[in-house]
Amino acid sequence: MITEISIFATVAALAALVILALRHRSSRSQSEAELNAWKLRLELDLKQARDERNRLLDALGDAFVLVDSDANIRFANEAARALFGARELLNRPVSEAFLDPRLADALLRCLATGEPVQSRVVLPQQTSPRGDLENRGVNAWIIDAAQLSNPPGGSPTTRVIIRDVTAEHQLEQVRKDFVANASHELRTPLAIINGYLENLLDNDMIEEPEMARRFLTIMRKHADRISHIVEDMLVISRLESGEANALKIEPFRFGSCIKDVLERLESVIQNQNAAITVTLPDPELVIHGDRFYWTQVLFNLVENALKQNPHNGLHVEIGCEPAGEAVRIWVSDNGVGIPSADLPHIFRRFFRVEKHHSQQEIKGTGLGLSIVKRAIEAHGGTIGVTSVPGRETKFLITVPKARG
Ligand code: ADP
Repeated sequence: MITEISIFATVAALAALVILALRHRSSRSQSEAELNAWKLRLELDLKQARDERNRLLDALGDAFVLVDSDANIRFANEAARALFGARELLNRPVSEAFLDPRLADALLRCLATGEPVQSRVVLPQQTSPRGDLENRGVNAWIIDAAQLSNPPGGSPTTRVIIRDVTAEHQLEQVRKDFVANASHELRTPLAIINGYLENLLDNDMIEEPEMARRFLTIMRKHADRISHIVEDMLVISRLESGEANALKIEPFRFGSCIKDVLERLESVIQNQNAAITVTLPDPELVIHGDRFYWTQVLFNLVENALKQNPHNGLHVEIGCEPAGEAVRIWVSDNGVGIPSADLPHIFRRFFRVEKHHSQQEIKGTGLGLSIVKRAIEAHGGTIGVTSVPGRETKFLITVPKARG
């Protein structure tokens, strides 16, 4: 009986064991499946998070690059890829990928010290990271490198932001040039006035009326020049400061504008014996714009033609005709012309053709064509120039017939 009981007990124990083992196996395979599903989900989440991060970083306008502690690139956003064009970036050392050592410098210093580094890099067109795509002349970049806070036990990652500041750099340059040029232009007549003043006061020239009158006449001429420069600078600044919106736009007959200009220049035209042709197929042609600025545009262009060609036999043509939704206006002359090397610079402030003003005393301020260009642009138009010296120098304006 005891044996039966012990057999029964043993069988029961075995059965229990088998059940336990079976249960254990099924629960193990269940937890394995769960583990796999969990792992899959985790990987999916991780991928989604990474994709989301990349999407966000790709949306940045600035180039953004992640670099490991060996200076190898681990991530480059879309702007960075576009910046470096066809060059491979991923898994390449920064110094190799960036090519120009000036671009890599901030990052390498940051890697060496662990401190954030910002630097401004100005590169000529030829060495721009944009390669052949660059056509803006000098270009400027701000490189900002800083280490990210590291995950525990992970190796340090450094981020680099490369911001294109070429437009700001160029504006700054234009402003600097303007101030330098304006000071230079004003200094010359001021120095002359001061010189004559000294002579008058310190050398008692004032007692010699003949001499004093001569000195004062010269001084007045230079004072006039100063006020002319300041006047022109104010017009430019008004046109550039957005006051263009305050243009007094109204319809007016362009023919009346031409008439005004020719009246104002009548004595010069007669003195030079210049021939003027007005080509205006429709004398009633109306354009919408600020008559004051249009008169100034036309005046500056015709005056330039006369000023640059004081000899006899000059022929100037002023024309205006409709061209679809636009109006074409031109002023051309058959004078000395503009050397082709100078044509791209002709609308810059204070620019004068060297050859012209070495031949004769400086008559203009060098601001006339800047005013012309800005006034036309404020009216939504464009101006271009072509020149075949001695044959035809033509300023051609295209402007919408009516604005908005
Ligand atoms: P300025 O006040 O000296 O006339 P502008 O800006 O009006 O300045 O003109 C710039 C330069 O362009 C002039 O100094 C002159 O050298 C040249 N220029 C302009 N118009 C003509 C033209 N019709 N023929 C020859 N040269 C011209």
